[in-house]
Amino acid sequence: MLDKKLSEIKGIGPSRAKALGAQGLFSLRDILYFYPKKYKDFSRVKQVSELTCSTEAAVRVRAVTAPKLSYIKRNMNTVRMKAEDATGAKLDVVWFNQSYIKNAIPQGGYFYLLGRVDAKNSNKMVNPSITNTLPGIVTTYQSIKGITNKLLVSLAEEALGCPLEKEEILPDEILKKYSLIKKADALRIMHFPKSSDELKQAKRRLAFEDTVLFRTMLFLAKSNMRGERENAFKTCGVKEEFKSKLKFSLTRAQEKVIDEINADLEKTTVMNRLVQGDVGSGKTAVAFYAMYAATQNGTQAVMMAPTEILARQHYERLKPFFDDGECVILTGSMKKKERDEAFLKIRTGVARAIVGTHALLFKNAEFKNLGLVVVDEQHRFGVRQRANLQNKGEAVHMLVMSATPIPRTLALIMYGDLDISVIDELPLGRKAVITRIVKEHRRDDMYEFIEKRAKEGEQSFVVCPLIESSEALENVISATELYEELYNKLDARVELLTGQTEPNRKEIITQAFSRGEIDVLVSTTVIEVGVDVPNATVMVIESADRFGLSQLHQLRGRVGRGSVQSYCFLLSESKSQASLDRLLMLASTADGFKIAEYDLENRGPGEFLGARQHGMDEFLSLSFATDINVLNEAARAAGEIASNPEKEEYKKLFVKAYEKLNEKSDIAMN
Ligand code: ADP
Ligand code: MG
Repeated sequence: MLDKKLSEIKGIGPSRAKALGAQGLFSLRDILYFYPKKYKDFSRVKQVSELTCSTEAAVRVRAVTAPKLSYIKRNMNTVRMKAEDATGAKLDVVWFNQSYIKNAIPQGGYFYLLGRVDAKNSNKMVNPSITNTLPGIVTTYQSIKGITNKLLVSLAEEALGCPLEKEEILPDEILKKYSLIKKADALRIMHFPKSSDELKQAKRRLAFEDTVLFRTMLFLAKSNMRGERENAFKTCGVKEEFKSKLKFSLTRAQEKVIDEINADLEKTTVMNRLVQGDVGSGKTAVAFYAMYAATQNGTQAVMMAPTEILARQHYERLKPFFDDGECVILTGSMKKKERDEAFLKIRTGVARAIVGTHALLFKNAEFKNLGLVVVDEQHRFGVRQRANLQNKGEAVHMLVMSATPIPRTLALIMYGDLDISVIDELPLGRKAVITRIVKEHRRDDMYEFIEKRAKEGEQSFVVCPLIESSEALENVISATELYEELYNKLDARVELLTGQTEPNRKEIITQAFSRGEIDVLVSTTVIEVGVDVPNATVMVIESADRFGLSQLHQLRGRVGRGSVQSYCFLLSESKSQASLDRLLMLASTADGFKIAEYDLENRGPGEFLGARQHGMDEFLSLSFATDINVLNEAARAAGEIASNPEKEEYKKLFVKAYEKLNEKSDIAMN
């Protein structure tokens, strides 16, 4: 029943089905897991004196003045009214462009107003709705063009009417032991919560389940990772040789991590090591070292990068360490002939060091004697893809690079399967990026600054949270809009690069930017991944409060890679002290670990894990975790389950975890 196609449901014609499908919603089951985006708690009435700015609230009031309709501009009208609650406290109410409301306001008696308290005046509500009864918790789903919230609510109702027992994957004993509610109940509550407490229980339950599932998946992947090699690598003198070919001298932190890698390679047990280090800390050199050591021991070494651009950059830099033809690149965009040549070299072992994109996961990419796998920017790959690459040889060492520092507590949960090395130092001579919060009224000064930098031959990134303008986020400037503005205003070469840019054009623009032929690159977060353009000195981030701190830190790391002073401008009009504090925190430190700790403490592990930057996007419910305890408990439960894998009650969970591990990944060929 949950498999019922949405297109077979009454009231859903082809165009609605298409709109839903575009969001990945095809069946009732998809609807079941499409939770509301927002919950507004209107289950309790507040007094006017209790209201706080920018929150949602319900009040019980009566009108003191008759509603007054006025036209401000041709396309804009307001209805204004004064109301008071039972204590006599006064409330201003304003509706924009809802002239009909004038006749809908009850005169005389009390009624409820549900809605948002003004951002500056706590005795004012904006666009509230009027009701005679309290609706409890009101849910809003992510807006989908052509689909009303009401339709989504009724679809959720229908989905919840189906038998849900099969959705349960946690065994009863675990539910009991950890006081978790049943899956079916959790799902019902997510769509139709009766109270905030109930909602908390549901979210805890779902976060718990995702953690258990994730850990179980790691456990299964681990059996791939547990190989023993016949011979240990010899690393004596290899480091010195590598260093003599390197253009700079290693930092103390790089040396330390290389030593840790050496210790691993000299064992017969397969290495599974994560290297964490801030953006620009020089992880690539460490990865190159490992590749060099593996090839010196007669095996092939491969590095997988998430984008073509990055793969090319790595390839160009790795080539000088090898003789002609021994270093090979493999990407999805290569012509068939080139690609076949690469496959041949890899298969026959002519290629000793290989750099590539997801194309490395192709079946035809067969290795002669693979000894080491490096996965760069690990958050862009799933556990499964890592495992797939590692399985292209026998007992292959693996090194995973991550530029998103995470606190140790979380690292243990997310990477329990990996040993961790940390590069906690930036190369010498790097100047800290000067970070400033910029208010709207200083925007033109900032433009002038960018223009000046361009005249000096320096380049700027401008990052926006959205590609196109959106009704839902009306105060957020989109990349497209900003590009037009900058293109017209600045005396500089401005270009636009977003996820919607055609792959070919993307490549052209990125390369032009690398060569310094573009002064200002307006984009969305597509540039997040480690391209190295030392000449870029300015990073502008629009609506900065919409990004997680760690992500902002990542973006900031795109500049300050050369010896020239770099700048990061965070645009924010947010009135909330908390978000201002976050930005100030970012401005005050360059230490990614400190920033991550702060994010974890202030926003909870959920926001942290939910963020795309950790590559956990398949485990959406992790973002519901409000404290680390849930994760710890779930990790413990997963441990108990893993220690008894034969148990019948655990079978469903293992099957699900196995499915996740082997799901056909939609490999993006970029
Ligand atoms: P990330 O850790 O973000 O991957 P990279 O490995 O791309 O950083 O290094 C960033 C830049 O710093 C590169 O241009 C690299 O050549 C340079 N670099 C790395 N290590 C050192 C070092 N020890 N001394 C000087 N420059 C270095
Ligand atoms: Mg890197």
